[in-house]
Amino acid sequence: MTAQLIDGKPVAQQVRSEVAQRAAAFAARAGRQPGLEVVLVGDDPASHVYVRNKERASGKVGIRGVAHRLPADTSQAKLLELVDRLNADTTVDGILVQLPLPSQIDPEAVTARIDPAKDVDGLTPISAGLLVLGRPGLRPCTPVGCMLLLEAIGCNPQGKRAVVVGRSNLVGKPIAHLLLARHATVTMAHSRTADLGAVVAEADIVVAAAGKRDLIRGAWIKPGAVVLDVGTNRKDDGTACGDVEFEPASERASFITPVPGGVGPMTIAMLLSNTVTAAEARVR
Ligand code: NAD
Repeated sequence: MTAQLIDGKPVAQQVRSEVAQRAAAFAARAGRQPGLEVVLVGDDPASHVYVRNKERASGKVGIRGVAHRLPADTSQAKLLELVDRLNADTTVDGILVQLPLPSQIDPEAVTARIDPAKDVDGLTPISAGLLVLGRPGLRPCTPVGCMLLLEAIGCNPQGKRAVVVGRSNLVGKPIAHLLLARHATVTMAHSRTADLGAVVAEADIVVAAAGKRDLIRGAWIKPGAVVLDVGTNRKDDGTACGDVEFEPASERASFITPVPGGVGPMTIAMLLSNTVTAAEARVR
């Protein structure tokens, strides 16, 4: 079998055009654009690129995207002060604090300070709790993007065996809960899982989110499985690759996301979508 590629770009484009329509309708009603404020602390080059991309992408769909770039020696108290100010600002609908943060700042304390109504990254304890309870709330962007990719290829998780490799709060855990909510039988694998190959081999749906190049061997993939590769790694020549051994996995899977161009494009699209959702919920 040769897998069909799951191209994230048209799916993300569809999300963006729907967001643009909703943002315009919101602006007509509220007299202002939906507002997304992104906070970046320090000099991490990758984070600077992500934040710039988020700012640009916001502008293109009619969201007022504002970035706050703070020096690397910013204290936790100063950052919390900014979060409090954004929480109180009625023209701000979404707040995202770009991770990682410098070592003097506790990321959990900062995340927990964000008003859950403005938590467009879906990472506050309230948002995480709502997800686990299956109640409405803002969900983390990459995991929701993965679910939309499944929908785009007509894959209904109900009754399927899903294996999520990686248990981070940002990716692995939320994806597992979203799959569970869609009635998949979900196994979460992680760095201490014994015999990862045997676990992955049972999966109808594999979500790889470990951040380890070639961790998931092609030979482990059950014939016909759907493979979503969230991992973002670099090959020796500097080009991007995922966590899955792409060529041999493509020989066995029915569908597989390429890296880049699979899951990646969905993340910012879902951030924009969450921002408009937060705006609509705040200004009725
Ligand atoms: P993380 O480092 O917080 O978590 C990695 C997880 O992988 C951990 O739970 C760990 O237990 C597991 N793991 C590590 N080594 C393992 C092993 N040998 N076997 C099994 N499990 C193992 O990372 P994260 O923030 O969850 O991100 C995961 C990957 O997804 C990274 O490559 C990251 O760059 C990428 N990512 C991509 C997007 C996107 O938009 N495409 C968004 C977020 C993260």
